[in-house]
Amino acid sequence: MISVVRMLSTLLDHDGRRRLLRVVATFVATGVLQGLAFAALVPLLVALFTQDWNGVTAWAGALLGLLVAHHVLLTLADLAGYDLACDLLDRTLARLGEHVARLPLGWYDADRTGMVGRMASKGAADISSIPGHLLRPMTAAVVSPVTVVAALLVLEWRLGVALLAGVVLVFAATRLLSVIIGRSEAGYDTAMANGSARVVEFALNQQALRVFGRTVHGNELVEDAFAAQRAASRRMLVTGFGGRGLQLLAVQALLTVVVALSVHLVLGGSLDTATAVGLLVLSVRFVESMVDLGELSSALRIAQGSLRRVLDLLEIAPLPEPAVPATARDGAVEMTDVSFSYDGSTPVLDGVSFTAPARSLTAIVGPSGSGKSTLLRLAARFHDVTSGSVRVGGVDLRDLGTEALMADVSIVFQDVYLFEGTLRDNVLLAAPDADPARLAEAARLARVDDIVARLPHGWETRVGEAGSTLSGGERQRVAICRALLKDASVVLLDEATAALDAENEAAVQEALTALAADRTVIVIAHRLQTVTAADQILVLDGGRIAERGSHADLLAAEGRYRDFWQQRTSAAGWQLVGEPAG
Ligand code: ADP
Repeated sequence: MISVVRMLSTLLDHDGRRRLLRVVATFVATGVLQGLAFAALVPLLVALFTQDWNGVTAWAGALLGLLVAHHVLLTLADLAGYDLACDLLDRTLARLGEHVARLPLGWYDADRTGMVGRMASKGAADISSIPGHLLRPMTAAVVSPVTVVAALLVLEWRLGVALLAGVVLVFAATRLLSVIIGRSEAGYDTAMANGSARVVEFALNQQALRVFGRTVHGNELVEDAFAAQRAASRRMLVTGFGGRGLQLLAVQALLTVVVALSVHLVLGGSLDTATAVGLLVLSVRFVESMVDLGELSSALRIAQGSLRRVLDLLEIAPLPEPAVPATARDGAVEMTDVSFSYDGSTPVLDGVSFTAPARSLTAIVGPSGSGKSTLLRLAARFHDVTSGSVRVGGVDLRDLGTEALMADVSIVFQDVYLFEGTLRDNVLLAAPDADPARLAEAARLARVDDIVARLPHGWETRVGEAGSTLSGGERQRVAICRALLKDASVVLLDEATAALDAENEAAVQEALTALAADRTVIVIAHRLQTVTAADQILVLDGGRIAERGSHADLLAAEGRYRDFWQQRTSAAGWQLVGEPAG
């Protein structure tokens, strides 16, 4: 519990931490008052049995006073707890929001996007439930028995010692079980997260899976993840039930020992019946607290897990930003001796150097896995390079700052995301204030005007989720139109690999040429026409630039590019619209 309070305090600012301490102190005080009220029962019962009416009046008065004080403090404590819970919810969401906006773009993938969503909903609610619902009853469940034991040590030390031993035993059992149950819960969480990720992946990749004949039953990854989920949930149920059972057993054993000891002492004449009855009443109340503790600690563990995950996320370092951002001279992109690795050990790019002069078209080609996408991502500072430097307009990206970079760079990747809304909304995303003439011009250049003409409601047609009413080539034309509207001097483009029909092929090519007219375009080229039109071609192989030059130079060099070209021109799905293979 102390560790939870410590974790919560790292989420709060100075004021919040002081409030948390005050709230916890109120919770402790409530527990002490409750414990004292329980303990006052013993002398009250003794006075009743011995017909000591002065004693009865005094102890009944004390008990009443304690109960009233406890009730008042309990109300105040609950209010303070709720208040803090609301603030904590706001603060968690605000900190998460601020932080994820500063995380490197490269950090995001399908799993992580889902994870952030879960944290902002269930996670934040779990965290606020700690001061809101859990901490007060849990503090009472610990503090009040401890107070009773302390009071008993004063009033009737032998029973105090017996209860103390019992309490230590039950606390230890609870602790041990919470470790065991916690482990199986963690396993369950991992299995659940893994299962959800596989299902999302399965849904997103339906087309590819069906093309390759893999239906629901054929997808081993999803089935394995589900099997692991079932096994983990069974394990959690078994350890959970077993654990709770053992804990209840320990609590009942404590009760039995107290009863047996009381009877023994009464029979031996060293304890009077009145005290024994008082003690038994007390022990029953005691047991209730212990049972509460078992139930609450499971809820607290779940909340603690959410808290841990949020704190871990907040600890991920955002990309460093310059104190004073420098200004890029033009749109030239320059990589100098760039090396990069995702995991810190396997290099994905190794000593890559090239310059893409302003207003030029650079095509990147190379086998799958050679590092093409990584190179493009580094140019957009999805990650920082491991060594070397990436410059735009003569300024290192780390000195340019993310805001300036994002204003200066357009990214057109393969999975063009079109949000639910009209075609116009989607195109204007990049420049909401663009006037109609500019919009029409960009649409003409990207050949989006053809799409507008085809669609039933023209610009006002709603493009479905992820743009499903448009073909792959059309979606990319919309993205290029966005890039044309955006006043950015660099465009990073990953050409659609999907085979395009002749009309789309020509349209995309025109759009690309329009882009390159006054922007620096770096494109992962999948189409021969783009390669032949490029000012320079970089051939990547195993994270290094194997060859570079113009199409004609590279064909003449009879190296890797020439092999690549020949392979591609003969491969199905590649339409030869450029000059014939040499
Ligand atoms: P290409 O675009 O040429 O196919 P990539 O740049 O996508 O190549 O990938 C280069 C290498 O980096 C591959 O071995 C790939 O597995 C690895 N890689 C790509 N993205 C990641 C990532 N997010 N985390 C770890 N490794 C990655």
